[in-house]
Amino acid sequence: MNVIDLINEDKQTAFSFEVLPPLKGTGIDKLFADIEKLMPYNPKYINITTHRSEYIYSQEANGMFCRKLTRRRPGTVAVAASIKTKFGVTVVPHILCSGYTPEETEYTLIDLQFLGITDLLVLRGDKAPHQKSFTPEAGGYNHAIDLQLQINKYNEGFFFDGKEMEKHPVPFNYGVACYPEKHEESPNAERDLYWLKKKVEAGAQYAVTQMFFDNKKFFDFVDKARNAGITIPIIPGIKPFKKLGQLNVLPRTFKIDLPEELASEVRKCKSDEDIASLGCEWTINQCRELIDNGVPSIHFYSVGAVDSISKIAKEIY
Ligand code: FAD
Repeated sequence: MNVIDLINEDKQTAFSFEVLPPLKGTGIDKLFADIEKLMPYNPKYINITTHRSEYIYSQEANGMFCRKLTRRRPGTVAVAASIKTKFGVTVVPHILCSGYTPEETEYTLIDLQFLGITDLLVLRGDKAPHQKSFTPEAGGYNHAIDLQLQINKYNEGFFFDGKEMEKHPVPFNYGVACYPEKHEESPNAERDLYWLKKKVEAGAQYAVTQMFFDNKKFFDFVDKARNAGITIPIIPGIKPFKKLGQLNVLPRTFKIDLPEELASEVRKCKSDEDIASLGCEWTINQCRELIDNGVPSIHFYSVGAVDSISKIAKEIY
């Protein structure tokens, strides 16, 4: 069953989470063990992120530094397939413009179809660390919507170069990203919503939000989206706060605000254990309010937070 049907089949708020493929050179056992901890809460689907190549610098025997384009977390498609096989759960690999040519995307779609994986989260992707601003690959796309159009064309039975192919009986279904606190590059919230609406008109069935820690921002965003004529399910993305350093890292990395009430409570904590337990309490309250307001699903960002999510899910599901 695909994500939109899984969300719609049940009146209760669904549970889902996102995992990262293991770092290159490490095994998949730790990831499986993390997923195992969250399976008792019956996730409806699991997302698998995708990470583009970036330049890594390493020192050679002669003392010189060598710059190499490397994918630190390869294997999204394989990880998705192995999770699907091992846990029998719907998987949602992320598919990006960033770092991929349309031809490479097409090969990914072919691989996914062979594996019977037809749910996707379609994203532009982050810029590479060495890029000042987002730059597509040669012939690649600037925005998620361009990637949506390639996937739509594929669903209709055409390769990206326009050549016809045998139409696959099960089309790709997909969601997109959205930003309650606006995307960092957008001049204003209205313009960001304008483009979200275009992504919906191009076929996005649901949207997953960037993490937020203040529910009011989410509720205001949903109101504005509805007023703009966006009617698809909007799924809140939630991350439990975990450690002191996140007071700077989260706003800097994700361009979000942390409520002063949370930040000042974090500063009062004596240890990271205290902060993790405060983070759980905060997230439980956030989730209870979201559930009371009838959100279709809560999507957890699980990196470094599996134990917290397990505690939170136990309380709210
Ligand atoms: P877009 O929809 O292309 O939007 C980017 C910006 O351009 C916005 O400001 C938008 O308003 C504007 N815009 C959109 N369309 C147009 C247009 N046609 N013309 C002009 N302006 C336009 N990153 C990864 O690298 N890997 C991941 O696995 C990953 N997973 C994510 C999961 C979620 C739920 C979220 C919320 C984000 C994720 N990201 C991931 C980060 C994401 O790729 C970045 O935030 C990226 O900068 C924007 O992606 P997007 O799909 O929203 O882009």
